[in-house]
Amino acid sequence: MSIEKTTPLDINRRQWLLGSAGTGAALWMAQPQQAQATRLQTKAHIVIAGSGLGGIAVANRLTQLLDGARITIIDRKEEHNYQPGYTLVATGVWPVSKVRDRNADFQPVGAAWIKDMVAEFDPAGNAVVTASGQRVSYDFLVVATGTHQDWAQIEGMDTSAIGKEGLTSVYPSPEAAVATWATMDAFRKKGGDAVLTLPATPLKCAGAPLKMTFMLRDRLAQAGTLAQSKVTFYSALGNVFGVKVVNDNVLSRWQDLGIGVEYTQRLQAIDIGGRRATFASPEGSTTEVPYDFIHVVPPMRAPDAIKNSDLAWKSGPFAAGGWLEVDKETLQHRRYPNVFGIGDINGTPRGKTAATVKKSAPIVAQHLVDVMAGRQPGQKFDGYTSCPLIVKEGSAMLIEFDYEGRLTPTLPMIEPLQAGYFGWFMKYRLLKPAYMAVLKGRV
Ligand SMILES: Cc1cc2nc3c(=O)[nH]c(=O)nc-3n(C[C@H](O)[C@H](O)[C@H](O)COP(=O)(O)OP(=O)(O)OC[C@H]3O[C@@H](n4cnc5c(N)ncnc54)[C@H](O)[C@@H]3O)c2cc1C
Repeated sequence: MSIEKTTPLDINRRQWLLGSAGTGAALWMAQPQQAQATRLQTKAHIVIAGSGLGGIAVANRLTQLLDGARITIIDRKEEHNYQPGYTLVATGVWPVSKVRDRNADFQPVGAAWIKDMVAEFDPAGNAVVTASGQRVSYDFLVVATGTHQDWAQIEGMDTSAIGKEGLTSVYPSPEAAVATWATMDAFRKKGGDAVLTLPATPLKCAGAPLKMTFMLRDRLAQAGTLAQSKVTFYSALGNVFGVKVVNDNVLSRWQDLGIGVEYTQRLQAIDIGGRRATFASPEGSTTEVPYDFIHVVPPMRAPDAIKNSDLAWKSGPFAAGGWLEVDKETLQHRRYPNVFGIGDINGTPRGKTAATVKKSAPIVAQHLVDVMAGRQPGQKFDGYTSCPLIVKEGSAMLIEFDYEGRLTPTLPMIEPLQAGYFGWFMKYRLLKPAYMAVLKGRV
């Protein structure tokens, strides 16, 4: 397959977009607003654990749907980070200020905010206990704690060393994204051996490791140092992406771009000062790989408080990671009907993206209201997952799929698996306003 060049169609799209960026964003975000007239009267106390995208989005929706409810949000984090922007910061496209906001600016008026972490979930007692020992009882609970990045599974890894000795990762924080770009920028001037890794666990935005690979290769090409460079992607799995058509498309592009792939190679250890990575195969053999530049993606699991609680899956594919045991269609807990899950914490087949929260937050909020009103949750979430997969600066494909891995394109002007300027423009310009609208409960 050849890599797309800018086509006249792209230029038309570009002109249309540049001329009507506001309209484009509005169209992308357009959805019927909730009927304000049908607010349910209740004195219920709803606790929301986690104030990232999912927690705040559901809190804002509930205030539109309920009258008289008490909402308490628990999370120590005060900065709100637009995580989908990290890949743009880490590849030198955006300044870091674009991914930093204040959580306080988005929480609904009247909600209480406990600036602490939930240390223990006691669903049988309808209560949570915070790290400082405060026991908070609830009538309904929304779990929105996101993922835990399990760096401890990589021997020798030290996230504070990101930015030194060629070590990078887009995942931990805005600071790590900044340090990743500084390191990539220095590396591309000379080129050398680059290694990019993928663990075997579920990931938030499983497209991010691929975007980092495409963009690194593009930055080397721009700097004219490709000839003296080798880019190799080490996957702990037998593929690089869980949806087959996307996987095949990416591999075909990488073949054309000269990006190598090694399969079933899990990053077991790293010698940061010595710039050597050790990969383990499923059979137990290990291979030591020297590098000049490495991008590390951490294994992910549920935070300890969920993993060690009765809310986690006890058997099946999501038990090892301690993910939340929700019904994949209603997002209601399978054993505790007054508990719902939103976002990355859910133990569902796919769905760890902000786009998933956009589609599922209205469903979770409505289902909570249904349960309060004594009705059965009636909507079915299809697992919508999406991310614009950047293939080079100025070009991305918009990947959208459901639980079954079926492509579910929503925009008629975008061909799935076709990279172009429109996908890039969405990522670069339209998706942050759309994210903010989701956060504020407006779409
Ligand atoms: C590098 C990167 C690139 C991405 N790119 C995209 C993209 O292009 N498109 C896309 O749609 N999505 C993307 N995402 C994914 C998207 O950001 C997440 O799916 C989304 O933020 C999930 O929201 P959440 O509320 O579940 O988790 P988060 O937003 O991570 O929030 C979780 C919150 O829970 C809190 N918490 C954790 N434990 C506890 C506890 N015990 N008690 C209380 N609070 C707790 C945390 O402090 C945090 O504030 C990307 C993510 C990353 C990291």
